[in-house]
Amino acid sequence: MALARGIPRNILSRSNTRSIFNGAPSNSRNRFSPTTNHPPLDNDVVRIVVISDTHQQHSLLKLPSHGVDVLIHCGDFTSYGNISGVRNFRRWLEQQTQFTDRIVVDGNHDQDRNNPDAIDLREEFSNISSSRSHEKVGSIKFLQDETALCANGRLRVHGYSWNSCKEDEFKGLPDEETPVDIVVAHVPGRLHQKHPQKRKKLHGSHNLAKFTLERRIPICCGGHYHWERGGVETTDVNDQGGTRLLTWFINAASKRSESSVHEPVVIDYNWRIRTVVNVEGLTQDNTMNIHFEEPFPSRIAKASFRD
Ligand SMILES: [Zn+2]
Repeated sequence: MALARGIPRNILSRSNTRSIFNGAPSNSRNRFSPTTNHPPLDNDVVRIVVISDTHQQHSLLKLPSHGVDVLIHCGDFTSYGNISGVRNFRRWLEQQTQFTDRIVVDGNHDQDRNNPDAIDLREEFSNISSSRSHEKVGSIKFLQDETALCANGRLRVHGYSWNSCKEDEFKGLPDEETPVDIVVAHVPGRLHQKHPQKRKKLHGSHNLAKFTLERRIPICCGGHYHWERGGVETTDVNDQGGTRLLTWFINAASKRSESSVHEPVVIDYNWRIRTVVNVEGLTQDNTMNIHFEEPFPSRIAKASFRD
């Protein structure tokens, strides 16, 4: 049966990153010796900043000014889906040039509810990239059920449209031969009906979580349910009986009140071994660890995640 375990406090601290294959603490930045064929580890780790549900409060965010690769916004950048809100966000996004890539998907608030076709978001965001010299200073990618290569080709990110979230039908993922590192949708993945410890009802798409695990996609991020901001780390056992990290599910909803935002979620990801090595910006209170006692595929077949 699935066990919910308290996440070790050190997973939230960058200075105490740990090995994910045997559960033993280690410094991930020293994982590869410089004498091997691997390039220096700094090239193996990309730093991803995730925000969501900023609802027009993007300027309150304190984003890292350097040393970051990709910014992901999981939708609901506006409050009422008006064109001035979209353009205000777009201008702010354009200023975040410290990122090689900026990824955006849409949320339920980003369209005019009375007239969903009133704003052509693809057009609004494409105006930016077309005005830039091709991807030299970084690019903005508005993804609608499509995949983008980011961080100079080291990362493959698939972004879902709000329509996919609404229908709970997630389309356009590349075939199984093509490894996807991150899926982004406005709704988060949901593993359980209730929080295993707090017994509170949980929201999000079970469907999204299921195929993210089946496809072994290391990161699945969303937002939408502001009060369920947090992270779920899923693991199972590897061939040696140690712990293997599966997927990190992140709800990165940023808006906290009318005048404050949460800090951004910062993920360090080793793209060579396709593993999250550190997550910051989430607290112990809203993070949990779900461990599948058996290797993952048989676990999903048996229990379908019911708690
Ligand atoms: Zn929303």
